[in-house]
Amino acid sequence: MTHQVTLLMSGFVTHDVKRFIVTRPEGFEFEPGQGVELAIDRPDWRDERRPFTPTSLRDDRVLEFTIKAYPAHEGVTEALHTLEPGAQLLMSDPFGTIQYKGPGVFIAGGAGITPFIAILRQLARDHELDGHSLLFSNKTPADMIVEKELRHMLRERCILTCTDEQAPGYASRVIDRDFLSEHVSDFSQHFYVCGPPKFNESLNDALKDLGAAPDLLVFEK
Ligand SMILES: Cc1cc2nc3c(=O)[nH]c(=O)nc-3n(C[C@H](O)[C@H](O)[C@H](O)COP(=O)(O)OP(=O)(O)OC[C@H]3O[C@@H](n4cnc5c(N)ncnc54)[C@H](O)[C@@H]3O)c2cc1C
Repeated sequence: MTHQVTLLMSGFVTHDVKRFIVTRPEGFEFEPGQGVELAIDRPDWRDERRPFTPTSLRDDRVLEFTIKAYPAHEGVTEALHTLEPGAQLLMSDPFGTIQYKGPGVFIAGGAGITPFIAILRQLARDHELDGHSLLFSNKTPADMIVEKELRHMLRERCILTCTDEQAPGYASRVIDRDFLSEHVSDFSQHFYVCGPPKFNESLNDALKDLGAAPDLLVFEK
């Protein structure tokens, strides 16, 4: 089913990521971490559907999306960033395999954090954050999406790393097998992985190599 939604407001979260608040259709339900397809409801954009993840809570009266623009693609994300309040969007029903299955470690690269923002916000709302940790990798500190909120929610269990810049408070390396064995002591818990395809592949290989059970790995298939 396709829903018509209206952009109510937008604002910058980082230099190239914006949050979009849109109306929530009557009866629209989703599980934190699921995605939807969005299209801009204009003749030239209507058929260009792209997947995004609601980052709002299940019972919020509006929907929030947190979307990184890729101007080089000259595609939907660039066009979304230029929209003004009142713009109309088309939204699909929710889909996707990233859903909360139990306590564990969230591992995200860049905009791959969005399903985990949704899940962690829901866990915070339910007072269920204990036993969860986050490893989050970006190019530079300026690229970290909702960093303060993540640090506040997870405290010392929020481990941030930058691959292209050294700065206090961040590890300066990629998340790989060595980084995992340094920061994770229990490989029998759930691991949630979301990032670019190569990030997902290498993390899944490294996790399996370190003894993580394949049925406890959660990632977008
Ligand atoms: C389930 C799911 C959920 C997602 N949730 C989110 C989310 O919540 N927030 C978020 O920010 N992102 C999210 N994404 C990623 C998001 O869908 C993409 O960033 C988005 O589809 C890009 O759309 P686009 O039209 O801007 O560019 P694209 O569709 O990637 O590209 C448009 C055109 O640009 C060209 N192009 C492609 N790659 C390059 C390149 N590297 N350099 C130059 N040109 C290129 C190609 O010709 C392509 O046809 C999600 C992805 C999935 C699968």
